[in-house]
Amino acid sequence: MKCFDWPTNESEIFSSWVYRQSLFSKSSTLDREDIAQLWTSCALSEDLDPDFTASSAFARLACDALNIRMDQRAILFQAPSAWIIPRYYRRSFCYGCLCESIANFQFPVFRKEWCSVATVVCDQHNTPLLDAVDLTAPKLNIAMKVFQLYHEQGLRCISASRYNEASQLFDSLLRMQSLLREFEFRGVRDGRLVNESGGVELPEWRSSKFLISLFLYPKFGLVNRLIPYRALHNHNYAFQQSFNLGPLIAGVAHRRAAIIILGWLHEVFSSDEDHGIEQFIRSAGNTVGFTDAKELGAASNGFSPEHSALISRRLMQWKIECINGRMQQFVSGFMESAHAKNWND
Ligand SMILES: [Zn+2]
Repeated sequence: MKCFDWPTNESEIFSSWVYRQSLFSKSSTLDREDIAQLWTSCALSEDLDPDFTASSAFARLACDALNIRMDQRAILFQAPSAWIIPRYYRRSFCYGCLCESIANFQFPVFRKEWCSVATVVCDQHNTPLLDAVDLTAPKLNIAMKVFQLYHEQGLRCISASRYNEASQLFDSLLRMQSLLREFEFRGVRDGRLVNESGGVELPEWRSSKFLISLFLYPKFGLVNRLIPYRALHNHNYAFQQSFNLGPLIAGVAHRRAAIIILGWLHEVFSSDEDHGIEQFIRSAGNTVGFTDAKELGAASNGFSPEHSALISRRLMQWKIECINGRMQQFVSGFMESAHAKNWND
């Protein structure tokens, strides 16, 4: 079919492919100017996720212009996870993948995987992902922009993404990343549990997302106290909105820290096989103020009495303390800290 004369890559986000198509395809019905105009006209629309929402204005109009049949669209917009970073905050990438796509397609390609909250390393190049720190607005040519930013400010990307620390923890991060993927997709395959929005979730995936969100709560969440950060938004969101937003706006270094702490609570790593983890947990503990899982629970509770009661109820309702001994200590530390706050009030 003529509109596919420029190679599609199933792992590439739609806007990246459409942009490449407009530059290189000999028979595309959308040239570079058309696509830029379409992008500008849709850029301010509320439904702007041109990559994973086939019904968004940009995706619909671009597909119509390219005569892509309805049944061909599903694969283009298939997301790597249901937990996706919104377009505005996507900035993580693997430099090895960018270079490989330039070698294969003569142009950088932005991979779908990098848009997933729980993806923090590249399992193809065995390297931690980096953040293009100054990429702040959605870009049609996002892969090219990221490639340029890396060449202009590579050292800033490397230090803000805490690349060296992540390289030392690479094996553990990869293990946790695979485990989280398994939690998410085993639930989908088995169809065992349906969540509030009608999706299917394993309890392990649900509780992992909850704890990652707890650690990444904007401003005073555990990880934001551990790694100083530049706030990406100044809005005063309600508690639940902020809770959901934390992991979506967090940089890759923050997401990695939350995932490592979660792995430690899940007792995925043994101290014998992975000294790096114990070292990371110890240095995090020194910074944020904990020496064991119970104190980690208390240190994770910077919330108002009302909100910590809400979180405690959720932890109990989902029986998170039943996962293992360390998780039990964590939950009891969090809840005792909540009670102490209530008594002081
Ligand atoms: Zn890669």
